[in-house]
Amino acid sequence: MPSCFSRRWQLRQLIAASSLILLVACAEKPTAADATPLPVASTLPVAPVAPVAPVIAVDANLDIQPTISFSDWQAGFRAQALQAGIRPDIFDNAFAGVTPDMSVVKADRSQPEFTRPVWEYLDGAISAARVRKGQALLNQYADVLQNIETRYGVDRQVLVAVWGMESNFGQFQGTQSVIRSLATLAYEGRRRGFAQDQLLAALQIIQHGDITADRMLGSWGGAMGQTQFIPTTYNTHAVDFDGDGRRDIWNTPADALASTAHYLQSSGWQRGQSWGYEVGLAKGFDYALADASTRKSLAQWQQLGVSLANGSPLPAGTDQQQAALLLPAGYRGPAFLVIDNFRAILKYNNSSSYALAIGLLSERFRGGGYVIGEWPRNDTPLSRSERIELQSLLSAKQYDAGTPDGIIGANTRKAIRSAQQSYGWPADGYPTHELLETLRKP
Ligand code: CA
Repeated sequence: MPSCFSRRWQLRQLIAASSLILLVACAEKPTAADATPLPVASTLPVAPVAPVAPVIAVDANLDIQPTISFSDWQAGFRAQALQAGIRPDIFDNAFAGVTPDMSVVKADRSQPEFTRPVWEYLDGAISAARVRKGQALLNQYADVLQNIETRYGVDRQVLVAVWGMESNFGQFQGTQSVIRSLATLAYEGRRRGFAQDQLLAALQIIQHGDITADRMLGSWGGAMGQTQFIPTTYNTHAVDFDGDGRRDIWNTPADALASTAHYLQSSGWQRGQSWGYEVGLAKGFDYALADASTRKSLAQWQQLGVSLANGSPLPAGTDQQQAALLLPAGYRGPAFLVIDNFRAILKYNNSSSYALAIGLLSERFRGGGYVIGEWPRNDTPLSRSERIELQSLLSAKQYDAGTPDGIIGANTRKAIRSAQQSYGWPADGYPTHELLETLRKP
C-alpha cells in the first residue's frame, strides 16, 4: 500500500504466512496520470533529495550507528529542504523540539522470528466485528461511496475493506509524529534516502496547508491517516473529496476513501471486475503453475483443469484478463485465481495475504467471501531462522535459493519446487517442516 515503508519494516500483523509475502521495492508508485477533478496538486517540486552524507557507519554486526549528531544532520537536511522549496518558517516550526525517537529505531530493526499462518491472519482480518462495522459504514456513507464509485470505478466494498484493514475504519491511525518518525529514520534508519524523500514530502504537505505538523500523526514508519498513506503517495494521490480545500485523510472519511479509490484506480483497477475466485483443481494438476509469474487467461486455466471451488466452470473472461493461481498455504490448502484487481490491491500493500483479506472482506460485506477449501490448520509456518536454514540447505544441495535472508521470494520458491520435483512431491513451492527435515538429512 501506500504505506509500504511501514509495512515492510513494521512486519506486524501483515506478515502473516511470511512465505507468501512478496517483498519488493515499495517506492514504485503508479502514476497519477488520470484527470481527476479534485486532487490538490502539490505546488512544490518533488525532486528526491540525496541523503546527507556521511551519516552512518556500518559495524561488523551490521548495526547502523550515526557518525554525526542529530542536530548536525538536521542542519544539513534543512539546507536541502529549503533548496527544494520548503520555507524556513515551515521547516523550523515542524522541527521545533524534535529528537530521534528510539522506539522508531527499534521497530525499524526488528525482525520477528515467528509469523502467523495465513488462516489465522484472515480470521483476524475478517472478524465478525469488523464485518458488522463495515456494513454499518457502507450504509452510513452510502451517498459519498456512490459518488466515489462513480468517479473512480472502484467498488465501495473494497474501499471500506481497505479502510477497515488499514486503520480499523479510522480508529488506529498511529499516534506518532510523522515528522519525528521520518526524521529518525532519515537520520539513522536502514533506508535513509527513502525516509528523507518521505520527510521532504511531509514538509510539502504541511506547507501546502493540508495539516499542521503537530496534527500530522501516523505509524512509526510514517504511514498517515485513515488510509495509511506515506507522504509521497499522499502528494500524488490524496484528494479533497468533500471540497473544503484540504486533503484531510486523518479526519474526513470522504477524503480518505476517495484517496484510496484514486490510488487503486491509478494502480490498474478494472471497474466492475472481481479480484479473483476461489477455485478447485483437477486431479494430477501441475502445482508448479501456481506462481505469480505464471499468468494465463481464464479459458486457459479452465483447459488445465481449474474450476470454481464449487465445481462450476470458471466465468468467461477475456483474453486480456490474465489470472495467476495462488496457493496461500501450499497445495494442501485452498486455491485462488487472482486477476487484475488483486494486483491493484498489491500496489497498496504488497502482501498476497493482505490482498486476499481485502478481496474476501469486501465480499463478506455482501454475505459472501467464505472460503470453501480447508486450511491446513495443523501446520505451523517455518520460523525466520528455519526459513534461513531452509534456504541455506537448498543452496548447499545445488537448488539456488539466493541469499539466505528468511524471505521466501521468487528464487527460493523456484529452489523449493526443484527440490520437491526431485523428491517426486507436488511442486507447489511452499516451504514446510517436512521439506526442511528432508533437506537436513545428509
Ligand atoms: Ca477535504
